[in-house]
Amino acid sequence: MSTGSPVGSHRVVSPAGALPQAADRLDPDPDIADDEVRISVERLNLDAASYRQLHDAHGGDGEAIRAEVRAIIERRGKMHNPVTGSGGMLIGTVDAVGPRSPLGLKTGQKVATLVSLTLTPLRIDDRLARWDGRSEQVPTSGHAILFARSIAAVLPDDLPEHLALAVLDVCGAPALVRRVVGRRPEGAATVAVIGAAGKSGSLSLAAARDAGAAQVVAVVRDEIEAAQLRGSGLADEIVVADATDPLLLAKKVNKALDGGGADVTVVCVDVPGCEHGAILATATGGTIVFFSMATSFPAAALGAEGLAADVEMLIGNGYVPGHADYALELLRANPHLKDLFIDRVDHANRQLASLSEEEQA
Ligand code: NAP
Repeated sequence: MSTGSPVGSHRVVSPAGALPQAADRLDPDPDIADDEVRISVERLNLDAASYRQLHDAHGGDGEAIRAEVRAIIERRGKMHNPVTGSGGMLIGTVDAVGPRSPLGLKTGQKVATLVSLTLTPLRIDDRLARWDGRSEQVPTSGHAILFARSIAAVLPDDLPEHLALAVLDVCGAPALVRRVVGRRPEGAATVAVIGAAGKSGSLSLAAARDAGAAQVVAVVRDEIEAAQLRGSGLADEIVVADATDPLLLAKKVNKALDGGGADVTVVCVDVPGCEHGAILATATGGTIVFFSMATSFPAAALGAEGLAADVEMLIGNGYVPGHADYALELLRANPHLKDLFIDRVDHANRQLASLSEEEQA
C-alpha cells in the first residue's frame, strides 16, 4: 500500500502540480493509499447550479443530461461540471480504510461525503443506467476516494437517506449564517435571504432565527414559494422578487426593512446575475454571504466598487466546523422546516420530470 498526500495531489493526472479541485483529471484507481478511504457509491447529489445548467443546456432531455454527466465523470475521474465549476456530494458505504486514515471511519458505515465531488476521485460502473437524468439525485454504483484531509458524516438513522443527502449538501450555509449573524449583538441584525424557499435558503432562514436575528426577510421567486413559507414562522416578511432584477430586489427588501438595507444578506439562488441586487439590498457596513455557486467574483467585486458600497462579501465556504450536525439539528428542531424541505426535495424531482416531458413534447 502506497503513501498518499493528505490533500490528494498524488491522484492528480493533469495538470501537474494542481490540487484535485483545480485538476482537469483525477485518477480514480480503486487501490487506496495508506491514508485514504474507499467508498462504495450509492447516490450522487448534483449541485443545484450544476444540475440547472445541464438541464437548461439540454432542454430538459434526461437522456442527454445523463450522457453528459457520464461523459464528465469518465473524462475527468470526478463529477466536476466544467461550465459551472461545481459538483455536489455523494452517499455510500465505507468499503476500505487505509491504516493511516485520520477520518475515523469504519468499514460498513453509511456515509455522506462533505467534500465536493469536484475534488473526489470517482468511477461509476453502471453507466448511470438507473438514473433518468431528471433530478439532482443520481442513483448509481461505483467507488469514490476520500483523502486524509477530506470530511464525511455518518448518515443519521432518523431521516430518509435522500433527505439527509439534500440537507448535508448545503449544510455549510446555515453554519456560516449562524457565525455571521452571531457576530452582531443579540437581536440587532436584520437578515435577508435570497432564494429563501430553496434548500440552503430555508436552512439559512432557520439559522438566522436561531442566531438571534432581529428581523428575517425571505426573498422568493414567486407566489407559490411565498405560500410555502407563509405560516412556517421562518421569516418575518416574505418578499416576492426576481433576484436578477437589482433595483426591484433592493426596493422590496428595503421596504420590508422600513427603508434600510439588510445587515446580513445571504444569496442562496441557483442562477447567475444576483450580485448587484444583493449589494444594493445590503446596509452600509453589512455582510453578504454568497453561498450560490452561480456567483461571479468580478460581478460582485466590481459591482460593489461601482456602487461605492461599503459591504463585506464572503464566499460561502462549504465547510464550517460542526456544519453537518448543525443543519441536521435545525431540521429536527423545526417541523415546518422539515416539511418544507421534504416538499422541496420530492416536488423538485417531480417538477423537473414534468418540465422535461413538456419540453420534449
Ligand atoms: P435550491 O434548493 O434549488 O434553491 C434555489 C432557490 O433560488 C429556489 O427556490 C429557486 O426558485 C430560487 N431562485 C432561482 N432563481 C431565482 C430568481 N431569479 N429570483 C429569486 N429566486 C430564484 O438550491 P440549493 O440546493 O439551496 O443551492 C443554492 C445555491 O447554493 C446553488 O447555486 C448551489 O450550487 C449552491 N451551493 C453552494 C455550496 C457551497 O459550498 N457554497 C454547496 C452546495 C450548494 P425556483 O425553484 O422557483 O427556481
